[in-house]
Amino acid sequence: MRKTMIRLSKSVVGELEAEAVKSVIMDDGYLGMGKEVQRFEADVAAFLGVPPRNVVCVSTGTAALHLATEALLSSEDEVLVQSLTYVASFQAISAAGAIPVPCEVKPETLTIDLDDAERRLTERTRAIMPVHYASNPGNLDAVYAFARRHDLRVIEDAAHAFGCTYQGKRVGSAGDVCCFSFDGIKNITSGEGGAIVTQDETVLGRVKDARLLGVEKDTDKRFAGERSWDFDASRRGYRYHMSNIMAAIGRVQLRRFADEFAPKRVALARRYRERLQCERGIRLLDTELGAVVPHIQPVCILDGKRDAVREALAEQDVQTGVHFKPNHMLTLYGGGKPTLPRTEAIYRELLSLPLHPELEMADVDRVCDVVIAALHGGHS
Ligand SMILES: *Cc1c(COP(=O)(O)O)cnc(C)c1O
Repeated sequence: MRKTMIRLSKSVVGELEAEAVKSVIMDDGYLGMGKEVQRFEADVAAFLGVPPRNVVCVSTGTAALHLATEALLSSEDEVLVQSLTYVASFQAISAAGAIPVPCEVKPETLTIDLDDAERRLTERTRAIMPVHYASNPGNLDAVYAFARRHDLRVIEDAAHAFGCTYQGKRVGSAGDVCCFSFDGIKNITSGEGGAIVTQDETVLGRVKDARLLGVEKDTDKRFAGERSWDFDASRRGYRYHMSNIMAAIGRVQLRRFADEFAPKRVALARRYRERLQCERGIRLLDTELGAVVPHIQPVCILDGKRDAVREALAEQDVQTGVHFKPNHMLTLYGGGKPTLPRTEAIYRELLSLPLHPELEMADVDRVCDVVIAALHGGHS
């Protein structure tokens, strides 16, 4: 008999989110960017411990990264960023007219390798974009020290890291500019969505206008239930705002995060760790579970056995993924010329195992049993 499929990831939404959306439709009737978005921004700000005006919600995490980059940089400016990230980070930088410079990662955490980044500094380097891979902010202090030393801005790609803490502080509550994603499968979702968090008033003003086509001060109008008719636009803008429908979902998800999603993700990841960390042929990443609420569960499968393990899992109806195909191997960002040997070697080992809040411990055990059997059973 075939067992039920174990999914790699999943949106975990239900009655509460449906009720919240219903109330926007039936009670409010305004679906665009209005008071519900203002409330979600205030809720996110309260969660992070920052003033409400420091949080700007937008349509996707990619939009957040794009607007943050465009607010800080000019065209042709270079941004140091690890090649091993979702193509969203690279496309966001490109969209702003800036140039992503692919860097190596540290093998222990798969966060940016600053020694490698240092060798890639040029006259045009203006920013660094650390990616909190698998929700781990890595050595963020070192990133900020590096940025200060080289006079760079920092745009954190914290798409994986909503709700995580670094040295006891919420990711996004300190630092330069931090971008979150609320897409369907991230730590919390608003359907699609993202947020920029910063204390920088210039950046705040720019991204608030740019999410609404560059219409100056339109955000304040929309939160007051009004619109701008006689307005000016002095910088480029987009339709990147968040809608009241999305915000309603996000507000419910935020309330479910601390007691439901976070402990579940951490417990499942601990179980993976217990089961797999002493196995030969597999390497787990360094992480501080608890402070880190993992969005994904990547492991490195050694000795050329990654594909065999992956196939064994697929045969047992277990979905897996690979986070991520390195960007310098894409036509747009290097034409596939191999230039980052460590990243390429790690890419051949990477395998993401199922992780989402509706997974059960028994599911993790089933996945681990297959992994262990495939590692040692001579399947390759
Ligand atoms: C998901 C993701 C993004 C983009 O977020 P979207 O909301 O999907 O646009 C950016 N960077 C990384 C590393 C991601 O995983």
